[in-house]
Amino acid sequence: MCAEHCSKRRGRYGVVRSSQMKCGSCGEISERWQYIRLMDSVPLKGGRGKASMVQKCRLCSRENSIDILSNTIKPYNAEDSETFKTIVEFECRGLEPVDFQPQAGFAAEGTESRTPFSDINLQEKDWNDYDETLKASVGIYDVTHQFVKC
Ligand SMILES: [Zn+2]
Repeated sequence: MCAEHCSKRRGRYGVVRSSQMKCGSCGEISERWQYIRLMDSVPLKGGRGKASMVQKCRLCSRENSIDILSNTIKPYNAEDSETFKTIVEFECRGLEPVDFQPQAGFAAEGTESRTPFSDINLQEKDWNDYDETLKASVGIYDVTHQFVKC
């Protein structure tokens, strides 16, 4: 990813991630893209806390869940450009993201100007705008991702 004069930060509306999910039990990968949202909180059976998404596997019927760890969310800054940086961590209890499609709902701030840009759509992997304060074009280009297991 390349962030020019711009630091990406999390949207005010909560994190929206569109992902394809894999069942950790039988390996079934969902055909549909699914959203995991920070604002969603589903109670787990047996009082085992909450998760961002709970889903029963269509193949093996196992109930799996995934939780966005809200305190791990970090901004992607201009100085992080061209490098991978962990911007969010998930606790995967049987549900594992295998692919990711960025959507709308990203927000950014001009590095020097602090100009806010809201509701950035990264579906095309690129975004650019004009910073009136800076009198320069700003942008996020070539959005790429990877999942790292820890
Ligand atoms: Zn399964």
